[in-house]
Parts: sequence; C-alpha cells; structure tokens
Amino acid sequence: RTVYVNGDYLPEEEAKVSIFDRGFLMADGVYEVTSVLGGKLIDFAGHARRLARSLNELDMKAPLTEDELLEIHRELVARNELVDGMIYLQVTRGAADRDFAFPVDAEPTVVLFTQSKPGLADNPVAKTGIKVISIPDIRWGRRDIKTVQLLYPSMGKMMAKKAGADDAWLVEDGKVTEGTSNNAYIVKGGKIITRQLGNEILHGITRAAVLRCAREAQMEVEERAFTIEEAQAADEAFITSASAFVMPVVEIDGATLGDGKPGRVAARLREIYLDEMRKAAV
Ligand code: PMP
Repeated sequence: RTVYVNGDYLPEEEAKVSIFDRGFLMADGVYEVTSVLGGKLIDFAGHARRLARSLNELDMKAPLTEDELLEIHRELVARNELVDGMIYLQVTRGAADRDFAFPVDAEPTVVLFTQSKPGLADNPVAKTGIKVISIPDIRWGRRDIKTVQLLYPSMGKMMAKKAGADDAWLVEDGKVTEGTSNNAYIVKGGKIITRQLGNEILHGITRAAVLRCAREAQMEVEERAFTIEEAQAADEAFITSASAFVMPVVEIDGATLGDGKPGRVAARLREIYLDEMRKAAV
C-alpha cells in the first residue's frame, strides 16, 4: 500500500512518525474517514468541513487547504487502485518535548492511508441488521470534536462483542447519545427520531446527508433525545456512519424490534442515501 505522510507518498513500511508525536503520547489529534465507492469519494466536502471545524476547536491551524486534501485523497485512490473502501486522514499537533501545554512551534503531522473493502455498499449485514447493547456514556464532554481519543468507544465495541451483540449505544442522563462510532436513530409511526446536535455527539456527516435525503423524500424528522425503552418499543432503529452508511438495528439490549427484520424506512433511506451520494461523488 502507498500511504501519505507529511507531503510524501511512501510504501507503508517506510512511513514514519516521531515517538514524540502528541497524537501518540496524548491523543492530541483529529481524524476523518471518507468512503470510496467505485473509485470516487463520498461526501468529501462534508468531511473537509468537519476537519476544519475540529482543528479550529483545538486551536490547531489547518495544515492543508481543502483542494490540497482532495488532491491527496485522489492520488491515494489512484496509486492504490482503490475501488471500494475508505480513506483515513489524521492530523495531530505534531512532535514536541512532552508537555501538557501545547507546543508553540510544532508542525502538524498529517497521515492518510487507504483501506480496501470490496463490495462495501453491498454489505450483507444491511439485509439482516445488527444487535446493540447499551452502556453508560463516560466519554469527555466535547464529542463534537472528532479526536483520536477512541479508547472508550473501542472498549464499548468489545463489551458488545462479549455480550453477543455487534455494537453499543451510549447512554447519558437516561438518553441515548450515539453509537460507539455512529449516530443512532429510531422510527416510530413513520417519524425518524435522532438526537439533536450539541457537544454530546459527533455531528455525523452521514447524519446530515441522511436527514437531508429524508426531508427531501417528505419523511418526517424529529431531532430530540430518546431513551433505550423508547427505542425498544420503536417500529425500527438504525445507525449511520461514513462506512456503514445506513445500517438497520434489529435488537436493543436483547429486545427484538418489530418482527426482527430490518425496517422499511431504514432500507429506503439506505437506498436513497447511496444513490444521492454516488451521484455527487468526486
Ligand atoms: N459518532 C461517532 C462517535 C463516530 O465515531 C462516528 C464516525 N466516526 C459517527 C458518529 C458518524 O459520523 P460520520 O457519519 O461522519 O462517519
């Protein structure tokens, strides 16, 4: 694989980052994941916009313009002959003597690599749905910033696997915030319900696009928090993320939703979303 590190395209074995990098020592960095379908980038502009926002919230200057980032993404797709998969992008504050205070003159570290996932959009799991468990949301209070601080979400995924489920929904003050690596939704009486934006959740790029698609298709959308009990009593549930797109949820904490099959709204949204995004892909 060819990867990108600070201006260079290198074979992955030759790519190096300092052990003093603050991303490595302090999780002082942000990231984005952009899907690639048919060799084209899905919602690149959305990811570039959120990256700029994450950097700004952490007082890091943008190391590259949006055009430069697009160029690197495309170059990696070409060099790796990537058809379906994702591009991971990480920007950290850079390498400096270890100190809690931010270094004044560190150069950001920029790393990008591809991951091939043949048939990404035809994931058979979308036909059967996933099972989720609920766990307490004990993450920090700025989940709107997409930092590389992913230990608890990673532990949450492991807790889910151990419980025989696929993923975990995080619960704070009795309400679902989001999934470990996705936004959470329920459907009741045809209405799509998902938590409102705030510091408590990541502002999913897929969430924004899916809600836009839903509204354009005259589907009713309500942005508010919901409980696990309400979700268990819902007609359907689903999650969204850049790599899962729209993925149905068929079981929550052992309770089967409806007839245990993926719901119609989720299936329809997945179709509309993939359609629209493929059309607009760059
Ligand atoms: N919430 C969290 C906590 C996430 O990690 C992710 C994906 N990285 C999402 C939501 C979904 O965001 P997006 O649609 O931009 O992939």
